[in-house]
Amino acid sequence: MKTFDEMIDGYGRFRSGDWKRQHERWEQLKEGQSPQVMVIACSDSRVDPAQIFDVDPGEIFVVRNVAALVPPFETTPGQHGVSAALEFAVQFLKVREVVVMGHGMCGGCQAALTQNLHGNRLGEGGFVAHWIDMLDDVREPIAAEKGTVGRDAERAMEMAAVKVSLANLRTFPCVQEKEANGSLRLRGAYFAISDGVLHLLDEKSGEFLPAS
Ligand SMILES: [Zn+2]
Repeated sequence: MKTFDEMIDGYGRFRSGDWKRQHERWEQLKEGQSPQVMVIACSDSRVDPAQIFDVDPGEIFVVRNVAALVPPFETTPGQHGVSAALEFAVQFLKVREVVVMGHGMCGGCQAALTQNLHGNRLGEGGFVAHWIDMLDDVREPIAAEKGTVGRDAERAMEMAAVKVSLANLRTFPCVQEKEANGSLRLRGAYFAISDGVLHLLDEKSGEFLPAS
């Protein structure tokens, strides 16, 4: 894995390569951005939405965090980073679709399942533990049926987390309004790291099916 100093070499390749090749694109982008799609993905280093969807700069508005979670609409004090990004994307950029993309081998979802960070102090796992406790409700039936270890239980947790984020997105008044009038569509997705296959959620059946 590269150090940041080694990544500066990559920057050199970008400046002499893509930056020059896509000069017109960058000229347009300096005036502003108008992506049609917002993607909420995990911070995990293996699941970069721009790479998976092979998109150019300016095409997707991205939020990445532990386990690709969207908290519910909250008016409590605090710094609501995901809510701010969502609000900006939906109300100001007027994106047409919001995609929540979970993934296989997600450490955040695994921690939600095992609760191994439960009770840790803030800064020592406590922030992660509190962040993923929004999965506690869906964890219970999964843990009861499949246990808390093994890919079967983990995969169920990873997919359930996508559904939690979609449900939480729908607690935002702006999302409710725009989904109702057809100007915004919510999508659930799941990228399986083991085989590189993207699955899309069919919300009617609740199943994730391979994207064709
Ligand atoms: Zn993850």
